[in-house]
Amino acid sequence: MQFLFTSADYVAYLRCAAEKIAASGDYITSLDAVTGDGDHWANINMGFESLLSAADMLLALPIDALLKKVGMIMMSKVGGSSGILYGGAYIAASKAFTGKEALQWEDVCRMLEVMVTDMMQRGKAEPGFKTMIDALYPAAQAFRYCLTQNVSEKETVSRVRQAAIDGAEATRTMQAVKGRASYRTDKGVGHLDPGAVTMSYQLECLCDTLDEKFK
Ligand code: ADP
Ligand code: MG
Repeated sequence: MQFLFTSADYVAYLRCAAEKIAASGDYITSLDAVTGDGDHWANINMGFESLLSAADMLLALPIDALLKKVGMIMMSKVGGSSGILYGGAYIAASKAFTGKEALQWEDVCRMLEVMVTDMMQRGKAEPGFKTMIDALYPAAQAFRYCLTQNVSEKETVSRVRQAAIDGAEATRTMQAVKGRASYRTDKGVGHLDPGAVTMSYQLECLCDTLDEKFK
C-alpha cells in the first residue's frame, strides 16, 4: 500500500478536531474549572477556529510548511500553557519533515514522537504528571510498538486511538506535578486533566482521518 498523509488529509483532520472541540465546550470548561483556571477550552477552541479560517491557505502548502504555519497560529491564537506547548510541538514537527510534501506511514508515528518530545522538554514534564502528555505519549508509544511488530495499519490505528483514550482517562487518578492542578492540595486526584482530554479528542480525529484512508 502506498500510504501518504497529505495536506488535504491534514485539513480533513483539522475539520474533525475543530468540530469535536467546539462541541465539548461545557464539558472541558467544567473540567478545567476544577483543576485549572477554566480557560483551557476557550484557548484551544480559539486556536482551532483560527486554523479553520486558514484551511484554504493550509491546503495549498506542502506538509512541512503546513505544520510550521499551524504551529505559528497555535502559538499566537491559543492562550495559556497549551498555546506555547502545541505551537512549539508543531514547529518541531515541521523541522523534522523539512522538504517533505506529504508524510509516509512511519512519518505519522515520528510526528507524534517529535511533538511529545518537544512538549516534554518545553513544559519540563514527563508522562504521569497529569497533563496532555499523558494522552499523546502512550499514543505515540503504541504506534511505535505496532511498527516494530508489523501490526497492520488498520489495527495500529485502533490501538493508537485506544491508547489516547485510556491515557486521558488515566489522568483521573494521577497527582499533578506540573500545571495549575499541581497548586491544589489534592493535586487534582479524582479529576480528569482537561488538556489530556482535548489531546485525546485530537488524536481520535487523527485516527478517524487515517482510518478513512484505508476504506
Ligand atoms: P494554563 O495552564 O496556562 O491555564 P491552558 O488552560 O491553556 O494553560 O491548558 C491547561 C492544560 O495544559 C492542562 O490541562 C495540561 O494538560 C496542560 N499543561 C499545563 N502545564 C503543562 C506542562 N508543563 N507540560 C505539559 N502540559 C501542561
Ligand atoms: Mg488555563
